[in-house]
Formats: sequence, structure tokens, C-alpha cells
Amino acid sequence: MTSILNADLHCHSTISDGTLTPEELAARAKAKGVKLWALTDHDEVGGQERAAAAAKAVGLHYLTGVEISVSFLHQTVHIVGLGFDANNTQLKLGLRQTRGGRGQRAMEMSDGLAKVGILGAYEGALKFAGNHDLISRTHFARFLVESGVCRETHEVFRKYLTEGKPGFVEHRWASLKDAVTWVTQAGGMAIIAHPARYKFSSNEEFALFGEFKGHGGRGVEVVTGSHTAAEYISYADTAREFGLAASRGSDFHSPNESHTELGTLPSLPGGLTPVWQLLADRIQTASDQSLGANASATH
Ligand code: AMP
Ligand code: MN
Ligand code: MN
Ligand code: MN
Repeated sequence: MTSILNADLHCHSTISDGTLTPEELAARAKAKGVKLWALTDHDEVGGQERAAAAAKAVGLHYLTGVEISVSFLHQTVHIVGLGFDANNTQLKLGLRQTRGGRGQRAMEMSDGLAKVGILGAYEGALKFAGNHDLISRTHFARFLVESGVCRETHEVFRKYLTEGKPGFVEHRWASLKDAVTWVTQAGGMAIIAHPARYKFSSNEEFALFGEFKGHGGRGVEVVTGSHTAAEYISYADTAREFGLAASRGSDFHSPNESHTELGTLPSLPGGLTPVWQLLADRIQTASDQSLGANASATH
């Protein structure tokens, strides 16, 4: 792996709440200079074969990926899994179970929105969901923008879809232990996604990292589209403190909605072990190139 490896290990396709197909994402990642890519759809590995094939076709190195929704201390935490066997039965069963309550939750969200005069939101959101098994708040946000209730999706989240707002429904996702175990027993690495996004006290955050490590979790996203430059530094410290490898990913969802483009984030701060160094033997290499597994990588 070269020291300037451009790895983007977090993004979403139409299989979950992104607006581009796996093939369109692969082409875009390639055009933006990405060398090592992972598609990490929410709670679903149904896009992995297409993503790996598309990566190969455009000359990108590829790691399998997923982003699992977890409930921890009454908040939703996301666990990214990388480098697992996407055909692993236990992982697929666990993800199916995690996706399970989304339809019911969406109908309850729609009821909440109807109470403030927004009608037909369930059907409206469903139109935006490429995968009806995976109806998410993002699809509701797109419907509310389309119907002129808000100007952009971030405004919808702020006014309607976050805790205490009319379209918010508390949901019970997977347990931290289950999510980490599903990924790990499938041969992959579990990573805490965008830790600065959660609203934990420092004690609660310490518990999250401690329990995550105790269950076999090995990495944390340090450089992500959800973090500020100051947060890169502070979670680099957390990675060192807990002995976790560091990941980098844009969390790209859509050319129109995402603030962070594929492959454009800064490198990882120094003195960290990049997750892809530990996952070298899980990387599906593009046919004509090698990543040079022994070189140190700072991206
Ligand atoms: P869900 O899994 O249905 O709860 O939806 C979560 C998704 O909503 C996340 O993965 C993001 O894509 C999106 N999201 C969450 N918060 C915001 C926000 N403030 N602005 C825009 N999108 C958001
Ligand atoms: Mn999302
Ligand atoms: Mn997330
Ligand atoms: Mn994400």
C-alpha cells in the first residue's frame, strides 16, 4: 500500500439510501481518484457483488462493506463492517433481522407526519426507496423536499425527523454485540462509524468504545464527511487510546445532497494504523495492479 493511498470506505447506493447505483458509484469513485473503495449500504449486503464487479471493471481495489444500525444507550450508533464474506449466512440473517422493523416504523413515521398535516408520506417515501426493504428517513426527507415542505433534506431532518419531531419514531436496532459479532465471524473488521455524530456524555462514549473493543471491534472512523478537522484530531487520540485502527470514508449518498465528495477527504492524521493495512488479505485487487501490502499507508 502506498503512503498516498486514496481509500474511501463509506458510501451508499440505491440498495439503501443513496441515489447512485453501485456501478455509478464505482465510476464516480474512480473519476475522483479513489484507489481502494468499499460500498457500505445500511443493513444490507445485496449490492456487494455488483460493487465488487464494478470496481474490478473500472480498476478499483475493493473491500466488502456494510453499515449496521445499532441501539446503544437509547441512541442509534452505526457500525461499519469491512472485508467480510458477503455470503456468510449468520451475517445475512442478522442483517435481515435488523432491516425487519423498517416497514412498520415507516408507517408510524407517516402517521406522525399526518398529524401535522403532511399526508401520504409513507407512499411518497416508498417511491424514493430503490429497495422497499430498506425504507429510511432519507427517503421521507426526499419526499418532503419534492412536495415543497422543505427546501433541502437537512432541513427536513432538523424540523421533522429527529428526536422530538413529528416524524421521529424511536426504533430498536441490533445490539452492539450482535453487530460486531456478525461482521467479525464473517471474517471482517467492525468499525465505529462517525463517532462525533452521537450525543453521548464522555462516560457514555467511553462505555461505547470499551464495550465495542470487548466484543472484538477493531477500528474507528477518524476522517469522515461527518467530522470537522478538530474532530479528526480528537478521534485520532481516541483511536490511539483504545488501540483501534483508523478508517477514512466520505459517507457519500448523492451528488445533490452530500457535502463530501467521494475520495476528497484529507489523509488520516499521522501515527495511526489504517484499517486497510490490517485488511490487506481481504482486499479484492483490481486485475492489473497491486497495492503493495508491505508499504505503510497514511491516508
Ligand atoms: P434511518 O436509518 O432510517 O434512521 O436513516 C438514517 C439516515 O438518515 C442516515 O444514514 C443519513 O443518511 C440520514 N441522515 C441522518 N441525519 C441526517 C441529517 N441531519 N441530514 C441529512 N441526512 C441525515
Ligand atoms: Mn444514510
Ligand atoms: Mn451513518
Ligand atoms: Mn453512512
